Amino acid sequence: MSVDLHLHTKASDGSLSPKKVVYKAKKLNYKAISITDHDTVSGLDEAIKNGKKINLEIIPGIEFNTKYKGFEVHILGYFIDYHNKSLINVTKKLHDSRVKRVKRIVNKLNEMGIKITNNDVFSLSDGGAVGRSHVARVLKNKNYVETFSEAFEKYLAIGKEAYVERYRLKPDEAIIIIKKAGGIPVLAHPGLIENDKIVNKILSMGVEGIEAYYYEHNLNETNKYIKLANDNDLLITGGSDDHGPGNKDGARLGKMKIDYKLVEALKNSI
Ligand code: AMP
Ligand code: ZN
Ligand code: FE
Ligand code: FE
Repeated sequence: MSVDLHLHTKASDGSLSPKKVVYKAKKLNYKAISITDHDTVSGLDEAIKNGKKINLEIIPGIEFNTKYKGFEVHILGYFIDYHNKSLINVTKKLHDSRVKRVKRIVNKLNEMGIKITNNDVFSLSDGGAVGRSHVARVLKNKNYVETFSEAFEKYLAIGKEAYVERYRLKPDEAIIIIKKAGGIPVLAHPGLIENDKIVNKILSMGVEGIEAYYYEHNLNETNKYIKLANDNDLLITGGSDDHGPGNKDGARLGKMKIDYKLVEALKNSI
């Protein structure tokens, strides 16, 4: 009875379609998964439709990439009504700003003598929530960098030469939007923030859970965030943050088996 509550698809920067992710999860014996694409719910219909066909429970989710005081803060939303009007409106606004911003990143890279085109990036993102991950993959495919991470270290990370800001929600805005859409806001991968003052600040903004079980957390971090959740009477979630083959350090689906009991606790809190 295992689950993975943090998965990306082609609707954002994953490399597999929602349908493929669903079938793969079924093959790996999961009872439930959540699709949590960055800033978009456009993969959920396909995932849920296919989940029904093969009896795999799909929890509708989203991951908002927000920024707080210069830190990347990601807020997951679970059991959202993904047809909620204000939620859809926000994702549209975020999508427009992502498209504009990627063009500016490509421009900057061109000025630095790196020959990639808008089309290289948009043909990878295929209408989904386009972002720096797609640019990183293009840079790797065209041998401008050796690894996906190197693309960020050299060009794309906050503060690097080809970094371009875009419209982002603030964490408290993301939390409100998720709650208004009937969902449960959860602080994603707190260990990646590497600053527990910021983590505590985000908790005070009204998240209802912490992603304590996370592929990149070590045992100390996992235990620390489980305790933090318990001390603050918050829910606990977990997931792999799989982006499919060819992304980051490769496919992660199957490597995180979280107990279904955590899903029951989420459901009981709605
Ligand atoms: P974007 O949504 O376009 O701002 O891109 C954010 C995504 O890029 C994150 O969800 C990560 O998958 C990836 N990312 C951000 N910073 C880094 C980094 N330093 N190294 C590798 N991947 C990163
Ligand atoms: Zn991603
Ligand atoms: Fe994230
Ligand atoms: Fe993620």
